[in-house]
Parts: sequence; C-alpha cells; structure tokens
Amino acid sequence: MSPRDPHDAGDAIARAFDAEAFRREGRRVVDLLADHLAAAQAGRTPSGAALPVLPPIPPEAMLARWRGDFPEGPTGGGLDALLARVIADSTQLHHPHFVGHQVTAPLPLAALCELAAALLNNGMAIYEMGPAATVMERRVLGWMAAQLGFGDGAAGVLTSGGSAGNLTALLAARQARAGFDAWSDGTAGVRLAVLAPASSHYSVARSLQVMGLGAGAVEPVPLDGRLRLRAEALPGALARARDAGKRVFAVVANAGSTATGSFDPLDAIAAFCAREGLWLHVDGAHGAAAALAPETRALVAGIEHADSVVWDAHKMMLMPALVSAVLFREGRRSAEAFAQEASYLFQGDAAARDEWWNVGLRTLECTKRMLSLNLYASLSLLGTRLFADYVARSFALGARFAAMVEASPDFELAVAPDCNIVCFRHRPRDCAGAALDAHQERLRARVLESGAFYLVQTRLPAPLAGVWLRTTLINPATSEADLEALLCALRDAARAPASPAP
Ligand SMILES: *Cc1c(COP(=O)(O)O)cnc(C)c1O
Repeated sequence: MSPRDPHDAGDAIARAFDAEAFRREGRRVVDLLADHLAAAQAGRTPSGAALPVLPPIPPEAMLARWRGDFPEGPTGGGLDALLARVIADSTQLHHPHFVGHQVTAPLPLAALCELAAALLNNGMAIYEMGPAATVMERRVLGWMAAQLGFGDGAAGVLTSGGSAGNLTALLAARQARAGFDAWSDGTAGVRLAVLAPASSHYSVARSLQVMGLGAGAVEPVPLDGRLRLRAEALPGALARARDAGKRVFAVVANAGSTATGSFDPLDAIAAFCAREGLWLHVDGAHGAAAALAPETRALVAGIEHADSVVWDAHKMMLMPALVSAVLFREGRRSAEAFAQEASYLFQGDAAARDEWWNVGLRTLECTKRMLSLNLYASLSLLGTRLFADYVARSFALGARFAAMVEASPDFELAVAPDCNIVCFRHRPRDCAGAALDAHQERLRARVLESGAFYLVQTRLPAPLAGVWLRTTLINPATSEADLEALLCALRDAARAPASPAP
C-alpha cells in the first residue's frame, strides 16, 4: 500500500462533491426508481415475471449477500447498480399485495422532496438551522390542528415517529396535571399513572417507563366486544388506581388501535376527563387522519376536546417514514414537555419558550430531519382532497374486505373493522385452540415464502384470544381483486402438504 497522499485525498473529496457528477448519477437513479415504481405497482418485473412482495431470505443468508470489505478508495461503480441490489433485497411497499404493517406506499413526490431535504440538510432545532423548514412545519401543524377541530390557540411539533410523539405528549400531560413539577423535581415517591385500554400501543407503557413511572403506570381500562375502550368502565378503573395509591394524571385513548384499528369513543372519554380534571391524550398515530374525510369523520368525534393528539403522517398520509405530529389544543403546553434550557442553543430564559421558531425547545430531538417538507409540498402541490379521498377509500376497502371474509365459510372475521386494519383467520374444520393458532402462523409463513403477499399476524386479547392474521390496506393500489387473491393464496397454503420436519 502506498503512503497516503493528502493531495489525492483532497481530489477524492472534491470529486465526491462534484455537482455535475451528481446530476448524471441522479438522472440514472431517478430512472431506476421510476422503473422500480412501475414494476412494484404492477406486481411484475419488467420481463413479466411475478415480483415477490418481499425477498424470502432469512437474516443470516441476507447478511452473507452483503458481505465484502469496503474498499479504500472509490470503485468507479455506479450508485444505480448498488441501488438495484437494495431494491431487489427490500420489501416492496408499492406492490398491491403489500397488506402488512402500517407503513405506507409513499407518494413519489414526497420521495423527491426527501432527496432535496437530504441535500439541504437543514437540521432544525433552531430557526437559523432551517428557516423554511421551520415555517413549513408551523403551517403543516396548523392545518392538521384545524382538521382536528382545534382552535387558533393550538400548536405542536413534528417528531420522528409516533413513539417519540407519545412520549412528548405524556411529558406535557404530566407537567400539566401531576400537581407538582415532576420535570424538575422527579416524582418524589408519588405513584403517577394513566388510564389506558389494553389495546394501546406498547410505546405508551414504554414512554411512562422512560419517564421513570415504573411498570404499574398504566391502569388498564376494559374493552368491549369490538376491542374499543368501554367508557362506562373509566370510573371503576380510576377508583382501582386510586385504591392502589396511584395518582392518575391522564387518559390515553386510541383513534385506531394498532392491532385491530378500533376507535375508542372519544366524546364520552373527553366528558369523563373534563369531569375528573384529567388530561386526554389521543393516540391517533394511525387513525387521526379519519378527521380528513366526511365519510370517516364520525370515528373521531370528540377529538377536538383532546389535550394532545399524536398523528403519524407516514401511516395514513402517504409520507415516507417517518414524520409524526404532536398537536396540543392549548399550544403553550407544547413548551412544557421539555422545559430545560441549553444555553448554547437558546439564548435568554423562560421567554424563549414562546419562540415557536426554535422547535428544538419542544422535541426529544436536537437535530432532526426537515420533517415538514414532504408533507408541505404534497399538500401544496397535490391538494388536500387527495388525502381525504385516500382515507375514505382505504377505510371503505376495509369494510369490503371484512364482508368478503364473512361471506367465506372457511374464514372468520375477528371484529367488524372501524378502518383499514382487518383481522381474520382461516378456520379449517375440527381445528381449535393452539392448533388453530399454529395453523395461522403456518399459513402466513407459507404465503410470505411464496412472495405472493405480505401480511402480518397478531395475538388478540379475550374474548378473541388467539392468533389472527392481520392486514392493513394502506397501499392505495390494493384492490378488491387483490384481496380475493389473498384469500385464495391462504386457501392454497392451507391445502399444501405439511413441510418435512426440519
Ligand atoms: C404505529 C403506532 C404507534 C407508533 O408509531 P411509530 O411512528 O411507529 O413510532 C403508536 N401508536 C399507534 C396507535 C400506532 O398504530
């Protein structure tokens, strides 16, 4: 190896930043991605073969495909060749047979914005590090707050995911309703808790544990037959928590639970919170978007009374992962989640908390991506109706798929879906209990291996106790015909002979 020549190194760095090379490479990459998008949406490779929704390659074998030392200098190879391998080894969210987790097929326009955001790399935190991104964030949040029915005083912040969003909202809730300054003084032996349905996302319990409130910080509220929080059970849950020596500061409700997409009755829950002086946090990561369409709006009736709402735009707003809004009905609450100062960033004192333009005061992140750009550009250029239509259509498709399942004697629906999350199972004769659970797992594994569909499974609580197949109809390209094909693929998998024991 020759000794390192700092001059050559400088040349290599300059070449890596060359604008004309970026232009040439960028054109090839966009062509590659456009070809990929067309293929994924058609579910076919350019040669006409079926495109697997995900590569049926286990982690160790996948690791072996990506072995190889990094070279010391540039190889001269093109980015397009490397990206072609990445595409082939990735899960295809634009494939109409992607009906798995709640991550969307993103708008191509938003993907282009993502490229621009990466190049500009305005890291937010303070206004000076992202002037346009900061005001776009404020405009997007203002629009979202208005959709929820919040008044002019509302405000919020964009954060990296619903999990970080729930933590942010619960910190503000604690600060507002604990009755003391837990942010500064710690919880000093007071056992703080929230009331939440067992259907709440694990990030709720995790946030409370991050906050140091311990494993007993969630007092569960019973569910009804459709796995919605039973509002009549709230007084009992509050009494139980108090009897156990806990001080309850909030109720967390789902606007679309993760497992079944069940919407809790927000109006009744809000009335209870108002009576008891409790903070209402609505985890609308998946379903707050129901507020956008007249057809689905009733699902979130009462959300305008919430103190805070989390709303993931990478779920039902077609954005690439990830961008989540934390919205506060009283905007000043946003400043209370993270009340500490960092003098090198934020000049001055408490007055600085009114500086909406320094968003890092109100988030877990210091530096963050230009989270607002994708959404701002999509709303500005594509218009707002597209989002309302998308939500209404996906929820309606959920209802139609449920009807198909119910019309099939060999399938069973878990609960009538509120939205586009549908849980069901295959029901062979004389199969129950653990064998029925194992049957669902086997069917799912076979369908995934074939590459024909991506769906997930979930274990539901009583009275539905057991393993159910779970679909999220989140890709706007998925049609009723695709869902008929899914039921056929599952039937075929049920008929296939058992694979030999390993
Ligand atoms: C997906 C989801 C979350 C977590 O959001 P991330 O953006 O994945 O962190 C939280 N709550 C609910 C109800 C969800 O469906």
